[in-house]
Amino acid sequence: MSKKKVTDIEDLFPPPNWRKVLKKVKQMRKSIVSPVDTMGASCLSEKNIQKTDRELWKFQILVGVMLSSLTKDEMTAKAMSQLKDGLKKRYGGKGLCSANILKCPNDDLVEMISCVGFKNRKAVSLKKMAQLIQDNGDKVPETLPELLKIHGVGNKMALLALQIYGHVKGIPVDSHVCVIAQRLNWAKPQDNTPDKVRVTLEQWVPKENWEEINFLLVGFGQVICKTVKPVCENCKISKYCGYFNDENHWSRKKKKRRKTKKEKEKEKEKENKRKKKKEKDRKKKKKKEWKRKERKKKKKENRQKKTKKELESSSEEEIKKRKRKQKKKSKDPQQKSKKKRF
Ligand code: SF4
Repeated sequence: MSKKKVTDIEDLFPPPNWRKVLKKVKQMRKSIVSPVDTMGASCLSEKNIQKTDRELWKFQILVGVMLSSLTKDEMTAKAMSQLKDGLKKRYGGKGLCSANILKCPNDDLVEMISCVGFKNRKAVSLKKMAQLIQDNGDKVPETLPELLKIHGVGNKMALLALQIYGHVKGIPVDSHVCVIAQRLNWAKPQDNTPDKVRVTLEQWVPKENWEEINFLLVGFGQVICKTVKPVCENCKISKYCGYFNDENHWSRKKKKRRKTKKEKEKEKEKENKRKKKKEKDRKKKKKKEWKRKERKKKKKENRQKKTKKELESSSEEEIKKRKRKQKKKSKDPQQKSKKKRF
């Protein structure tokens, strides 16, 4: 993407017709029922506890939000119902509450939420969150910085929980909101993560619209503007959509070209050659090493032989010397006696 194009898009914020687009999304959302409408995080707490026990309601909403990350709403709802029933049956009391989560062994907790993604990590986060809330006098925090301190809670989760509690502090951006914002040119080409898209959206979307964006776009993304294979023929905003009108739009993921049979065979051949060469090199190296060791061994043996010989020869010489000396000594008295006679 050239620099000019990026500045062009920046100049376009807020995108033209965005109000019209949002209005049409609202119309489409009225005619469809998406999983988020019936199984979204706001629907997963026990019924009627919002007014009777607000802290417990907030706690259950937070658990639902934490379990929903990178998981389909259907699976989150299943895990939540298993948690509520399981904890109530085992420990009684308020069922899905901080005390019961702390009483529950980690393995059992993992089993109860086994249908959600990253179950092990989420079970650890739930335990840590329950401990924090119990230490806080069983009060669930209602500010963004406090919620972000909880283990496993990121921007999207904290903002969504706060929005359900009634405090809109930002736009919760999940994968659906992220993809749709990119397709509609509501984000910059360099906004390749939900957090970057959130920052861009919060820069130009008026605050009064923050609350509805997540709910509208998530449902729209679950049924029509799906991440994989969007149903564009049923979409009423295709006229404003960059993805639909531009084959080379930046929001399109570049598909990997499938390799032909010939290319695959060539690659296989190359791989085999590489393996053979590697094996040959290995054998060569091994042989070289063996030769080097042999040479070293021989050298050592030779040296040992040499020193042995030297020792032997030296000892022989010494013996000879000693003998010679002895001979000399033995000869000496005779000579003396001879001298005396003369
Ligand atoms: S036209 Fe297709 S890609 Fe564009 S918003 Fe509609 S469904 Fe999504």
